[in-house]
Amino acid sequence: MRVLGIETSCDETGVAVFDGAAGLLAHTVHSQVDLHAAYGGVVPELASRDHIRRLTPLIRLVMAEAGTTAADIDGVAYTAGPGLVGALLVGAGLGRSLAWGWGVPAIGVHHMEGHLLAPLLEEPAPAFPFVALLVSGGHTQLVEVAAAGRYRLLGESVDDAAGEAFDKTAKILDLPYPGGPALAKLAEQGEPGRYVFPRPMTDRPGLDFSFSGLKTFALNTVREELAHRSDTEQARADIARAFEDAVVETLVIKCRRAVEAAGVDRLVLAGGVSANRRLRERVDAMMAQRSGRAFYPRLALCTDNGAMIAFAGHQRLAAGQSEALAFTAMPRWPLDALPELWDE
Ligand code: ATP
Ligand code: MG
Ligand code: FE
Repeated sequence: MRVLGIETSCDETGVAVFDGAAGLLAHTVHSQVDLHAAYGGVVPELASRDHIRRLTPLIRLVMAEAGTTAADIDGVAYTAGPGLVGALLVGAGLGRSLAWGWGVPAIGVHHMEGHLLAPLLEEPAPAFPFVALLVSGGHTQLVEVAAAGRYRLLGESVDDAAGEAFDKTAKILDLPYPGGPALAKLAEQGEPGRYVFPRPMTDRPGLDFSFSGLKTFALNTVREELAHRSDTEQARADIARAFEDAVVETLVIKCRRAVEAAGVDRLVLAGGVSANRRLRERVDAMMAQRSGRAFYPRLALCTDNGAMIAFAGHQRLAAGQSEALAFTAMPRWPLDALPELWDE
């Protein structure tokens, strides 16, 4: 079965063609970073308009790259939520219409299920069951995954997501939007241990996270330190390093607890922050210590992309799920509300 996947939940227009037998045939992402950079964050109305402008040409391009004509497409998958409602409606409207025009089924995919299943596009793919850490711009969640479609939320952030904390702290350090990768780069020059940030919510049991305090801690440290250190460039790098170390160690502590509690030796990381090099190193070391293993998507599939939506949609369409002609976008949509993929 060959599926066209469309992602428009935020500020990336992602398109891909996934084939059940041949794998990922082609995928492309157009990032709107330049469009929103001047505003320091995503402007929803501009995002929707740009998705409208980009989507049709991108679909043509990706289908050509995949050597696929409309007649070869067996289904269309689009992100139905969570995300910006206007942006979601662009992908949903076009995806549902194409499927209707081509006479094939369509499926609205949960964006976080897309992220969660992305590591299954890699070799070796993790076998079920596993624990997944979803770390992105809007989510920080630990999920117990019994099988594709069978998700149990173990813990999540009670305030900012890890990616959001990266972005906000980057802003405090005068780094360009989007801040995560820029902060990680600056942290490379930082001296480890020069500052020590808290590891929020690690001193008590539980699998929830809280990252909003770290950005306040960063703000206070910047105010105090930049005022009386003459080497301000080094000070910024030291603060970036301390912040990154705190986020990474906090995530690793909770991941270790989660795999212990679930009794599994496989941990999957996905979402934009899973591109972070130091996080990968520390997670690998922690899992190696437990004789387990961590799995990640390739870097290009950590942040938003169409490949993960084509893949997740393929799993559901191949299991016989699809939806009626009416479509909807769900700005909020809990992951564990999804139907299971296969009946037992
Ligand atoms: P969600 O998936 O929750 O709806 P989103 O789609 O906006 O949110 P993603 O595209 O998955 O999020 O990831 C973007 C986030 O990842 C941003 O917050 C960005 O700063 C962060 N990020 C990307 N690369 C890195 C990195 N190397 N280190 C830290 N953070 C990073
Ligand atoms: Mg984005
Ligand atoms: Fe995302």
